[in-house]
Amino acid sequence: MTTKPNGFSRRALLKWLAGLSAIGALSSLLYRSRRPAATGESPHIISRSEWGAEDPDPSLRDEQGPELFNTVVVHHSALPRTDGPREIQAGHMHGRGFLDIGYHFVIDDRGYIYEGRSLAVHGAHASGHNAGTLGIVLLGNFEETEPTPGQLASLKSLIRYLVGKHPLTHLAGHRDFQPGKTVCPGRNLAARLPRLAAESGLKFGTDGYVGPEPASTTPALTQRVAPASPAPNANTR
Ligand SMILES: [Zn+2]
Repeated sequence: MTTKPNGFSRRALLKWLAGLSAIGALSSLLYRSRRPAATGESPHIISRSEWGAEDPDPSLRDEQGPELFNTVVVHHSALPRTDGPREIQAGHMHGRGFLDIGYHFVIDDRGYIYEGRSLAVHGAHASGHNAGTLGIVLLGNFEETEPTPGQLASLKSLIRYLVGKHPLTHLAGHRDFQPGKTVCPGRNLAARLPRLAAESGLKFGTDGYVGPEPASTTPALTQRVAPASPAPNANTR
């Protein structure tokens, strides 16, 4: 076989390289456009339709009108980081009988922010404390690993944005609402929350919780309700 040291192959190579560089520029542009905003303004939030969310159960609503959020509650997914909003939503709706994904926002390990449950309704993320608490979950298990710098930056910019939109006064970890019952959001994230609260102009802890959640609603959060059981209030699911 003879080699062909001609101009064509060199041109083809250059063309191919140019194509690669165009793809690189495009993906870096897309990546940048999804990076969190530096201050105040809305960070880029990947919408439910963009990530392919299932529609919520039609019975999901807030009888008292739009939810007034006083406390941000931070969670970890305690799942592999590759399990994203779709996997969490499927687990919540089809595994645990929730009416939608339980969290209001999801942040992956690249710092991408995903829209979760509508902010017009209660979440289902902190058993017995879902009235007025806005749930944000970071993908990963932070008992075992550290959140990524991208996740932390996005959490901070998302909270800063939400503080400007809702009457938030406090920030807490899930475990602060259920001490002894959960380690969520994991020690490596929990340790950062007091400082994050201070930097966001919020108090750290559960004192801002107004509630109370209607007593009839609490048992349904973690269990699928058998058909014979009384219908649980939508607020917990
Ligand atoms: Zn949690």
